[in-house]
Amino acid sequence: MPELPEVQTVVDGLVATVFGKTITSVQIKNSARIYPSQYRFRKLLIGARFVSFRRRGKNILIDLSNGHTLWVHLKMTGHFYYLPEKDLTGKHDHVVLGLENDSYNLRFNDYRRFGYLKIYPTSEIFSQKGLAQLGPEPLEMSANEFAQIYKTRRRMIKPALLDQSMIVGVGNIYADESLWMARLHPERMTDSISNAKLAELHGHIQTILNKAISNMGTSVDSFAGVNAKPGGYQKYLVAYGREGEPCQRCDKPIRRMKIGSRSAHFCSFCQRAR
Ligand SMILES: [Zn+2]
Repeated sequence: MPELPEVQTVVDGLVATVFGKTITSVQIKNSARIYPSQYRFRKLLIGARFVSFRRRGKNILIDLSNGHTLWVHLKMTGHFYYLPEKDLTGKHDHVVLGLENDSYNLRFNDYRRFGYLKIYPTSEIFSQKGLAQLGPEPLEMSANEFAQIYKTRRRMIKPALLDQSMIVGVGNIYADESLWMARLHPERMTDSISNAKLAELHGHIQTILNKAISNMGTSVDSFAGVNAKPGGYQKYLVAYGREGEPCQRCDKPIRRMKIGSRSAHFCSFCQRAR
């Protein structure tokens, strides 16, 4: 699933390609997961101009010139592609937006079909369920704020990092990578971790997310940017997806375990459970 760096890569790609452009046509397939109705959705988009693109956690918020915001969640396999109009659309292109004076169009493509596009008045967007209860952005908070959030709740650290009401944007990949860097076992209870260690973990999260953003995200599955090109961070992964490969610190094999329904990748030698 796209995490903060992948979603930021998509937002940056949209800014670079369609910022300021006006939507002239909207094709919606019945397979599209949209809100409100097809009729209203089309009516709210046609003639509207893209005025800003924002990321909030793993959500994309596209403000339109008519006082509405298009809220997109990519979920597992959602993509935006900016491609020549003459290139035929595929069966997974659920929404296709034609643009004024542009021989390219913008497609929302999603073969697993968990992703969605919803339109609300901009003034009401942050009161919607799914946006209202989001925690702070890890790149915009202090180490102290981060430590306070995890200190005051007793949870295993790995699922706590994935909980979007605690902090946003971190998913399975970047949680595993950050815990490896901080030498923290994924099952360590949050209230047993010192403030200094939590601050260190926050620093690793920031460093890793920023490096992944500058590498246009991680493509271990289908992730690709708006230009349909994959990201480049996968070559830096040290824990996620490295089961059986030697740990880069101690040479012992990276292990994988289930915590809840999710896999955690870690080194049982340098990330001790205690
Ligand atoms: Zn190790």
